Amino acid sequence: MLWSGWGDPALARELPSGVRALLRDFLGVRAPDVPAVGLEEVRLPPVALPEPLLGALAGVVGSAYVLTSHEARVRHTRGKSTPDLLRMRAGDGSAAPDAVVLPGSHEEVAELLRVCSAERVAVIPFGGGTSVVGGLTASGSGFTGVIALDLGRLDRLLSVDQESLVASFEPGVRAPEAERLLAAHGLTLGHFPQSFEYATLGGFAAARSSGQASAGYGRFDDMVVGLTVATPTGTLDLGRAPKSAAGPDLRQLVLGSEGAFGVITSLRLRVRRAPGERRYEGWRFGTFAEGTAAVRALAQEGPLPTVLRLSDETETMIGLAKPDAIGSGGSGCLLIAGYESTPASGSTPASGSTSASGSAPGWGSAAARQAAAAAVLARLGGEPLGAEPGEAWEHGRFSAPYLRDSLLGAGATVETLETAGFWANLPRLYDAVRLALAGALGSPLVMCHISHVYETGASLYFTVVVAQEGDPVAQWEHAKEAANAAIVAAGGTISHHHGVGREHRDAYAAEVGPVGVSILQAVKARLDPAGILNPGALIPPTTPPPAA
Ligand SMILES: Cc1cc2nc3c(=O)[nH]c(=O)nc-3n(C[C@H](O)[C@H](O)[C@H](O)COP(=O)(O)OP(=O)(O)OC[C@H]3O[C@@H](n4cnc5c(N)ncnc54)[C@H](O)[C@@H]3O)c2cc1C
Repeated sequence: MLWSGWGDPALARELPSGVRALLRDFLGVRAPDVPAVGLEEVRLPPVALPEPLLGALAGVVGSAYVLTSHEARVRHTRGKSTPDLLRMRAGDGSAAPDAVVLPGSHEEVAELLRVCSAERVAVIPFGGGTSVVGGLTASGSGFTGVIALDLGRLDRLLSVDQESLVASFEPGVRAPEAERLLAAHGLTLGHFPQSFEYATLGGFAAARSSGQASAGYGRFDDMVVGLTVATPTGTLDLGRAPKSAAGPDLRQLVLGSEGAFGVITSLRLRVRRAPGERRYEGWRFGTFAEGTAAVRALAQEGPLPTVLRLSDETETMIGLAKPDAIGSGGSGCLLIAGYESTPASGSTPASGSTSASGSAPGWGSAAARQAAAAAVLARLGGEPLGAEPGEAWEHGRFSAPYLRDSLLGAGATVETLETAGFWANLPRLYDAVRLALAGALGSPLVMCHISHVYETGASLYFTVVVAQEGDPVAQWEHAKEAANAAIVAAGGTISHHHGVGREHRDAYAAEVGPVGVSILQAVKARLDPAGILNPGALIPPTTPPPAA
């Protein structure tokens, strides 16, 4: 993974000349004044942890697994949001951990938490490092020091239960490896977020991730049937049945807890039999409102495709749904749909199977679902575009983050933000966010799509491009604050799938209210009395910070 950008450096993308011209002529983008620094030029604070304490950590995991090298610290500094990347490119390593520690078992994690609690060392659980909400920004303020607890050594598939369709994993397994391991058993998880190449199963659970095939497979939190969690107070082992009436479901307290309550050391996940066939296609709608009505009809009445994504007019015009052919978009609003069949159902037509929550066991044949969905889309004004747009989307589905690096290098800030709301409120939410971004940034390019749908509502995912001006981090933070306020005021959730981290903490507090915050603080105080776990993320501090 590129330390100051995304992905495999060998896959770096050059901006097509047409896109460069578009950026220059319509957004006023010009090359940044300061080139990005090299890895060795990143400025890091000195290691604050005293040698005996580093020795104590090495005593738990082995000295080979306590890293204090410049490179290891840089690679564990922050996540992959655009402000994170802008800071890294500028050589700002002020949020680096003092050390990177790699435990090899649940017991080692538990022992590390004991040592760190006793010595007041902050611990940032680190999965794939792809957080985009400041979930990994270390601050040693008030602590002896900070460690990044890298879960990369916990990378095993532990068991597969073919009868229950449940697989147990350690948390550090990256998504492609999870799919590879499951494929050997004829199974799939079906979780394909855009961060697929690098994010881990533990990170998905900790941040309530949602993938591109969520219409068919559900969100990641739908897939988690059990969890083992090491906390400074002891171990939580949750989930002994698919559903239970035995009180509140404590699994839900861990899902989305972003390393603030404990460290997930294993997960039991619902898996599905690998699909026999996948088909993708495109449709065009005249307006976003018409397309939204069609998507809602599929979500509420079925049949629901496995992948369902509707771009608004701007995103369609730019061609963002096909990152490999950016700049070659069309008019109206592009809808991408994907259909899968299960081997068990073969090619038998599935009459009336809706799978509207992504939880139905059999989808029937892909062709039958496609035909049934086509009837709904055509009835609601859609124009069929055939397989090409869908296949182009499928081909370029993980390319967009590489494009971001090229745009940053060219002097444009590009960043995404997302929310969700009920269908009745979606147009208001859409308008509010666009208005807030335009107000804060002047003339940005704001694109949006719907890609996670439910019977009662959907997510809105915005991509913003603007010419970098002055301090680009401050420029974006101003816009993000305005968008956050607009989301809260318009009744949306502050995050559908990116999570809370540090960037959304205040808006999350507003969303759950003071009683909600006090519950979170009480759980935190019980599980993590020394407050060492990811301090500053998710939960507002128990006591207000002292006045400056
Ligand atoms: C280019 C790009 C595209 C993205 N696309 C999507 C998308 O399509 N859908 C989506 O949902 N998200 C997306 N994300 C966001 C991100 O990938 C998700 O939040 C993902 O769940 C993070 O997984 P990770 O393994 O990288 O976790 P990290 O980023 O390492 O950690 C995320 C949070 O979880 C905590 N954590 C990690 N592992 C554990 C553990 N084992 N126990 C306890 N806490 C832990 C961390 O402390 C942190 O607070 C994208 C991010 C990028 C950069």
